[in-house]
Amino acid sequence: MDNAKRMNLRLLPAVERVLQRSELVAATTRYGRAAATDWVRHVLAELRSDASANLPADAAAIESLVVARVVELAEAAAARRLRRVVNGTGIVLHTNLGRAPLARAAIEAVVEAAQCTNVEVDLATGRRGPRGAAVETLCCEVTGAAAALVVNNCAAATLLTLQTLAAGRRVVISRGQLIEIGGSFRLPDVFRQADVELSEVGTTNRTRLADYADAIRPETVALLRVHPSNYRIAGFCESVAIDELAELAQSRGLPVIDDVGSGCLYDLTPYGLPEEPIVQHSVRAGADLVLFSGDKLLGGPQCGVIVGRADLIERLRKNPFARALRVDKLTLAALEATLEIHRAGRAFEEIPTLRQLSLPAEAVEARGRSLLERLRADATMPERFSLQQVVSAPGGGTLPEQTVPSWAVAVGGSNADRLAARLRLGSPAVFGRIENERLLIDLRTVMPEDEDDLVRGLLAATKD
Ligand SMILES: *Cc1c(COP(=O)(O)O)cnc(C)c1O
Repeated sequence: MDNAKRMNLRLLPAVERVLQRSELVAATTRYGRAAATDWVRHVLAELRSDASANLPADAAAIESLVVARVVELAEAAAARRLRRVVNGTGIVLHTNLGRAPLARAAIEAVVEAAQCTNVEVDLATGRRGPRGAAVETLCCEVTGAAAALVVNNCAAATLLTLQTLAAGRRVVISRGQLIEIGGSFRLPDVFRQADVELSEVGTTNRTRLADYADAIRPETVALLRVHPSNYRIAGFCESVAIDELAELAQSRGLPVIDDVGSGCLYDLTPYGLPEEPIVQHSVRAGADLVLFSGDKLLGGPQCGVIVGRADLIERLRKNPFARALRVDKLTLAALEATLEIHRAGRAFEEIPTLRQLSLPAEAVEARGRSLLERLRADATMPERFSLQQVVSAPGGGTLPEQTVPSWAVAVGGSNADRLAARLRLGSPAVFGRIENERLLIDLRTVMPEDEDDLVRGLLAATKD
């Protein structure tokens, strides 16, 4: 270390002195004195150990440098917290952005339930009541099933179902349906965890009813069908429909479990989307248990819903595991409000996921035109903004390879990566995507109530 640097290190301020600086008052109040002290010590230690750090020559300048670095650390801590994000990626169910954004009514229900609630008490009698009973009734009403149970997610639903009905026994599944979801949930591993023997039938691309029939042995306790949500087997392929499978299972006195994944309650083909398994169809076709996620096409909170035969649901409920996988009152409240919207027939108007997926491209374009006008009216360089035709994706491990025509605000004229970073760190954070060196904000996934924030964020990020 050179002499000048050694001299300047002697000018480093005391921790206490830095903490007194007005710039750090807000951070100290918010994160506490202990955290702020750690940050100051960290910055001082870094300056001491980094021989290449160019320290200014006077104490006041050094102190300001330290304060600025501590403020950066405080801002980084703020950026790590959970906060609202404007989704301009065009991916409707964005796993990293929390999958389905809740409907307004569901958000309000969560806020109300966050206080003391009647989650396990019957208000009419004042006695203890079954947890989640009202939500389960709603699950039955919208799906046509006899009984329901809500757990933490669809992965938990699969685990609980296999463990309860088949531990130490055998379950038959098609080779083409041994899925992996999200990098760590691999069906063969789940079977192992639940101590269930996997009986794979058919081939990757073709499985026929006879394959299932031939695989049934005395130790077989169920047939499982899993929807290949996040991939497609195309070309020369064949699989067995749920009604045929249910018929076979019934004739052998076995239950059939249908993991449909996305929790779709409607035919989406009129909106130009491909066929997804519909929960009510599976129930009607005779599936004994149907499993699905709450935060995919159902458009609700993260949870896993199991609907079906009352005696089987009762067995799941009695498994001690069920307690470990149960959902909290906030989830119950959000799910209840979401299901009420489905029951009332207003899902495509009020549930963001379905509204965004079904929005005609012309409606997205019209919103784009008016946003573009607002941006250009107030921008220092209006020509940086334009409107561009793009394609959105459903995402979230649903409808793979499917795209939907959409429109995006394109921002040119500067480094797209830097602009994207600025928008992410804004308040609220804005996420877009980069294509051909231009930042795109796909308007299909931007909530209408986020538009003012989006305009403000874009103008602030492109000011210079
Ligand atoms: C998404 C999905 C799951 C996992 O659902 P989570 O709610 O994310 O646990 C399981 N099975 C299928 C078929 C799915 O599509």
